Amino acid sequence: MSVCSATNLTINFYWNQKRVQANAFGISKKEHAVSMPNNLFVPNAQAKIHLRNEGDLQVWFLGVGSAFAASMFQSNLIVVKGDSHLMIDLGSKASVALHEAGLTTLDIENLLVTHSHADHIGGMEEWCLRARYAAPSIKGCARGEYRPALLTTADYGHILWECSLRGGLEHSEETQPGRRLSLSDYVSLRYGTYVPGFGRPVYQMKVGEGASAIELKIVRTNHIPDTSKSWQTAFYSVGVIIDERIMFSGDTMFDLEFLDVFGTHCDVIFHDCQDFTGGVHASFEELCILPKKIKKKMILYHLPDGIHKKFDPAAHGFAGWAKAWRDGSYVFPRR
Ligand SMILES: [Zn+2]
Repeated sequence: MSVCSATNLTINFYWNQKRVQANAFGISKKEHAVSMPNNLFVPNAQAKIHLRNEGDLQVWFLGVGSAFAASMFQSNLIVVKGDSHLMIDLGSKASVALHEAGLTTLDIENLLVTHSHADHIGGMEEWCLRARYAAPSIKGCARGEYRPALLTTADYGHILWECSLRGGLEHSEETQPGRRLSLSDYVSLRYGTYVPGFGRPVYQMKVGEGASAIELKIVRTNHIPDTSKSWQTAFYSVGVIIDERIMFSGDTMFDLEFLDVFGTHCDVIFHDCQDFTGGVHASFEELCILPKKIKKKMILYHLPDGIHKKFDPAAHGFAGWAKAWRDGSYVFPRR
């Protein structure tokens, strides 16, 4: 493993020499699928999202927009593999997008959230309340018996409850006289295992078993405040590595070391992108300086209104703008 030595935007790369994974050109049996670098984009003919498939690793963007985009439903992800599914982030507009895709928050059995902004966690209160109070009549279980899994760390689970969720959830009932609810009354907390040796906090976790297992690493990133120079001085935020094939940046400022250590070997890098340099996300201009071999497998998401008219990603060597579920899904065929 190499570490990028660049500390600013000078081009001073030491990209590691790991081979980019063999791509999947021509593997698809699915009609009309479009081959992209290292994956297939499969059009969505049914106007729904299915939480099961035949076993390929599949990614649906519920939305591809930024926090303030008037359309595009923020940027939340659904990952499916065989019988397993995982939602990454559940923002304030997610339940509407889920409804349009034929789902409700009650269908989401596994959730991982990248940080505490409302476009990433704003739908969690509904997710928790429906699990506790709607599930008994819909799933035929006792109150509190159905508790979907929240994949996180012990530290962030505490922050999430104390700083964001507690006000809306603690007072719903008293399970015993004087005992109000806690996060674990709503969800099954699943903490990742710390993985040393990466130079920043990394936790490993898994959803599903056997051929349907989705292997995950969450990696600390540098998102807020905008003055933060590294993950060490930033509030909690993480990117996600999925099956060592997909890098999902989460929200982060431009971070060469993060890309070098965790993205170089992945088939695809989904990276957040804003239309100006500064602030708390990587900008289009900053991402443009990356090597060609990285950009050609980089798909840009978390998009502000109007960015599609402002820049041409293909002209700068990127794989393109991310597309949401109505258009289709990204499929990574089994090897
Ligand atoms: Zn954010």
